[in-house]
Amino acid sequence: MQNGNLGEFGDMPNEEFRRVGYELVEWIAGYFENLEEFPVISQVKPGWLKENLPVRPPESGESFDAILADVDQLILPAVTHWNHPSFHGLFSTSTSSVGVFGEMLTAAFDMKGMLWRTAPASAELEDVVLDWLRQMMDLPEHFEGIIYDTASVSTMHAIAAARDRAGLSIREKGMSGRKDLALLRVYCSEHVHSSIDKAVITLGLGLGSLHKIECNEKFEMIPERLAEAIEDDIENGDLPICVIPTIGTTSTSSVDPVDAIADICEKFGIWLHVDAAYAGSTAIIPEFRDYFDGWERADSIVVNPHKWLFTPFDLSVLYCKDLSVLKDAFSLVPEYLKTADDPGVRNGMDYGIQLGRRFRALKFWFVIRYFGREGMIARLREHCRLARLFASWVEASPDFELMAPVPFALVCFRACPAGVDDLNALNEKIMNDLNASGEAYLSHTKLNGKFTLRLSVGSIRVEERHLTKVWDILNRMLTHQ
Ligand code: PLP
Repeated sequence: MQNGNLGEFGDMPNEEFRRVGYELVEWIAGYFENLEEFPVISQVKPGWLKENLPVRPPESGESFDAILADVDQLILPAVTHWNHPSFHGLFSTSTSSVGVFGEMLTAAFDMKGMLWRTAPASAELEDVVLDWLRQMMDLPEHFEGIIYDTASVSTMHAIAAARDRAGLSIREKGMSGRKDLALLRVYCSEHVHSSIDKAVITLGLGLGSLHKIECNEKFEMIPERLAEAIEDDIENGDLPICVIPTIGTTSTSSVDPVDAIADICEKFGIWLHVDAAYAGSTAIIPEFRDYFDGWERADSIVVNPHKWLFTPFDLSVLYCKDLSVLKDAFSLVPEYLKTADDPGVRNGMDYGIQLGRRFRALKFWFVIRYFGREGMIARLREHCRLARLFASWVEASPDFELMAPVPFALVCFRACPAGVDDLNALNEKIMNDLNASGEAYLSHTKLNGKFTLRLSVGSIRVEERHLTKVWDILNRMLTHQ
């Protein structure tokens, strides 16, 4: 269908925008309402969408109705529905519809937040909402935040800041060809997220710089092993620059003992970066604060509201005890970006590799205002209650076992019926069959060589009946193996 409305120049006419806009909001509302009718994971085969799309771009513009019809026919079948309440794989997404409005307005404004001047609302709202979050998480006032897209990027910037603070003139001289540089060392547990490996690759430290520290039976970093590793490395002439404990590891959501690790960092003068990308959200719940003991001593902390604070992807927050270290590492102002503005204003481009930055704070502001602190706490508490409930069913069953403690809303478990030799193969099959059915989505990890199912509870739409459904399916599958 040809687009009859479009003139030779200019954008979609406003009256059409209004009509289509209402239709699209109606479409999204219907999508949220009917989510449970979709298979959780897209059932299409690789290449399906490409085969169904024209190879060449359209010569003349098409009507938006035709485009929306193709969303129904072609895009929807290839969507894995992260918002589905039975999406329990990886870490579930908690996106709220109010956050979707934020994304809409951000796109409409399309400010590129490089300088304060180019996006004052973005620069100042970011400061305000990150200070609100800091207060809700009970972090000391000296922590200042900056928004990046993902935790991977937040952590990369934190390690870059740690490297800069080591005073090795790497910003000017780089690292290659330098005989005066020792091997720079970064420490984390063996259960750390792969974003840390990627950060050391990106920063030119290399995977060889990573020293992965052994964990105890609860998958928590052993501080004594960390201290020994640092001492050994120093004796070998290496230079420790950063230690990264995790609060809520990806495999099991275990919590490294940050306070004891902070003692070690203090003793050796090493940057302490806490990866709380997943579980950091729960720091807003007063009775969860014990998990965060010592994180107020960190140099930097990453928390992801796009994981578990009802905010659509992407929005990751890096808090720094002293944000000027990040600025020292990254600030670079070419002539065309110099302004006469008050030198006290915050220019986002000074704190990372990006020049233009999206107005991400808006959606988070909407979310915090719409739900309020109490509303967010209530929802997180409910997710944790549901996870504990599911864990209690696992514990009470002779055919399943828990594989790790459940501090937050992630349950690690496996089927272990009597008389089965290869439990790894059994659990892998159960997971693949369940996921292929489209009824729910679970992912897995391997713990001490054992194939372990991971069930994450975090969708804003999840209810007890969704967990009952997965539990029933799992038990049914087991009887039919
Ligand atoms: N850190 C932890 C503990 C995670 O679980 C994840 C992702 O699941 C990340 C970092 C990376 O997050 P992102 O996708 O925002 O880079």
